[in-house]
Amino acid sequence: MHCPVCMMETDDSHISYMYADMQFTFCSQQCKERFTANPNLYVNQAGKTAVKHYIKNITKLRTLELEEIIPDDIANAISQSLMTMMGINKVQVKGKKITITYNLLEATTEQIEEHIEQMGQSLSRNWIDRLKRAFIHYSEETELDNLEQGDGYSCHNPPK
Ligand SMILES: [Zn+2]
Repeated sequence: MHCPVCMMETDDSHISYMYADMQFTFCSQQCKERFTANPNLYVNQAGKTAVKHYIKNITKLRTLELEEIIPDDIANAISQSLMTMMGINKVQVKGKKITITYNLLEATTEQIEEHIEQMGQSLSRNWIDRLKRAFIHYSEETELDNLEQGDGYSCHNPPK
């Protein structure tokens, strides 16, 4: 069995979840949350192939700009912590900016924000608040809706 979100191998001892009369097992709580937020991205619907089965990556970039230069030790703590998440491909910290590259099929901006909120072990509350302030919301959800309901983007069906 494989985690339907990240395709890692799983077995019955992992987190399981029933959806549309099928049992799925997940490698992590994060993948389960990702799945339950948009199950149609991973499970084929009548006559329609789920996006995950023909696209492996929907790469997204998220840049946070802070009000001050981020010191090296803070930068290291932030990138190390973010890299433990599923679907995070790269974290770059330069000056006041943090650029996070992630796969939208495995992680959402909401999950990244939640992860930051819980960085309390490696980061002071003060820095967590600064990071949260730097989070600028944008319309990721609109794009997800299109992927779930439409036929998805492909070279035959480019986004309008
Ligand atoms: Zn997984």
